[in-house]
Amino acid sequence: MTTMTDDHGGDVRLTGIAKTYGSFTAVHPLDLTVPQGSFFALLGASGCGKTTTLRMIAGLEEPSAGTVRLGDQDVTRLPPYKRPVNTVFQSYALFPHLDVFENVAFGLRRRGIKSVKRQVGEMLDLVQLGEQARKKPHRLSGGQQQRVAVARALINHPKVLLLDEPLGALDLKLRRQMQLELKRIQTEVGITFVHVTHDQEEAMTMADTVAVMNAGRVEQLGTPAGLYENPRTTFVANFLGTSNFIEAGVDGRSGADLVVKAGGGRLTLPADRCGTAPAPGGTILVGVRPEKIALTPAADAGAVPEGRNRITGTIRDASFLGVSTQYVIDSPVCRDFAVYVQNVERDPRLVPGAEVVLHWSPAHTFGLDAAQD
Ligand code: ATP
Repeated sequence: MTTMTDDHGGDVRLTGIAKTYGSFTAVHPLDLTVPQGSFFALLGASGCGKTTTLRMIAGLEEPSAGTVRLGDQDVTRLPPYKRPVNTVFQSYALFPHLDVFENVAFGLRRRGIKSVKRQVGEMLDLVQLGEQARKKPHRLSGGQQQRVAVARALINHPKVLLLDEPLGALDLKLRRQMQLELKRIQTEVGITFVHVTHDQEEAMTMADTVAVMNAGRVEQLGTPAGLYENPRTTFVANFLGTSNFIEAGVDGRSGADLVVKAGGGRLTLPADRCGTAPAPGGTILVGVRPEKIALTPAADAGAVPEGRNRITGTIRDASFLGVSTQYVIDSPVCRDFAVYVQNVERDPRLVPGAEVVLHWSPAHTFGLDAAQD
């Protein structure tokens, strides 16, 4: 394994970092620490400020306020070329007249290093392009060109590699391959990667930690599984997948659980998955991911195990998707309740018009502040 940095100088610390353009605030004051060696994703829709944040780390954009530190070093006022970071762009920006070897060697030659063969060879092995060394970029596939761009960015041993939608120009299949490939490279070199993407699946596949951005702010920070299973806002819940929401009245506590009323029934959820749960009498949005829900025909309601949250509904639509079937269900307690039932034999009784019980484990239930939207 090639470990490029052995010290702990690769932590990226943003403190109160902000960017305004005239009266428009692209990034509101933001505190963020990216630990050394992590694969960190800035995830959000177009215009949320993720590229601006990345460019402030790179030094390509001057912050309107705040500081950028790399380890112990305050780099806020340093020009990009003096920062121990490098950036890979979506456009690759390879030199068309240079072959793969010379593209990768470029950073070394610019520093006056004459003997580059071993280092470039190692880098090409890392990105598995040893065989392509003498080809010009136009003879490579998009994925290969992107790997040349990564090798070229890593050759000077940056402490942090910044990736700005690096896979955006690739088709879906190649993008999926490259996601795994970039993850492998990051694990092998062990340096910090900060990756900007609008694709939630990409962020979830690659990153250890994801910052979900919305309108110039980090809305939530966490591991992919933590964000998916315990979103703190409806924006994060919806951005990372499909969610179902039930507006419920808080009834009280039962041990570590919160008990809520929805329709005529009661639901329970872990109190620690509710943020600041409202007092009894208040309202809460109860969320559950579609694939956590099982469906049982109403005639078999007695067979639903005790202790599961349950509501009733009527199937409006059923779409066979291959690995799963998606059901849209009308329920008195919520609208457009989309339920994916996966890895079960399809019950011929689960057809539009059928009365069903929807049930799921309280452990897979989260609560959100009903007043937030
Ligand atoms: P995308 O994925 O589309 O690049 P993003 O989340 O990366 O989106 P940014 O590029 O960071 O978003 O832009 C954030 C906001 O700041 C956008 O509304 C954008 O129009 C605005 N913005 C960015 N650069 C400038 C600029 N130089 N002048 C004025 N406004 C800008």
